[in-house]
Amino acid sequence: MTCPCHSKKPYEECCAKYHRGKKTENALLLMRSRYSAYAKGLADYIIATTHPSSTYWQPNKAKWKKEIEQFSQSISFDGLEILDFQESGEKATVAFIAYLKQQGHDATFTERSQFEKIKGSWLYLSGDLRSGACKKI
Ligand SMILES: [Zn+2]
Repeated sequence: MTCPCHSKKPYEECCAKYHRGKKTENALLLMRSRYSAYAKGLADYIIATTHPSSTYWQPNKAKWKKEIEQFSQSISFDGLEILDFQESGEKATVAFIAYLKQQGHDATFTERSQFEKIKGSWLYLSGDLRSGACKKI
């Protein structure tokens, strides 16, 4: 199986090790492994890699997990295009286009995500979103 992060690499040689607990070496790998985790419905990985200060963070893990699983099941994850990646110290940004479809309708969005490294682990903090594919964000 090729990795759902669209790296064209086999899943076992790409995001699988991160989903099993290995720390990502940088925020870009974290971003890719979160995309493939959404595609595979691995809600626990999404929860574990979300910054506790993120607006997406929820104290009710069971409810949060269900929401992620429902999102994963309702979307087809058709592509991922990385536009930009910048890292300085414990902070990083990744800009990307996620090509998605929801029940046959285009749900593509472009996002510039902020990441922070805490105790050696990169975590997703926040993102600026635009609907559709825009090359500049
Ligand atoms: Zn991957």
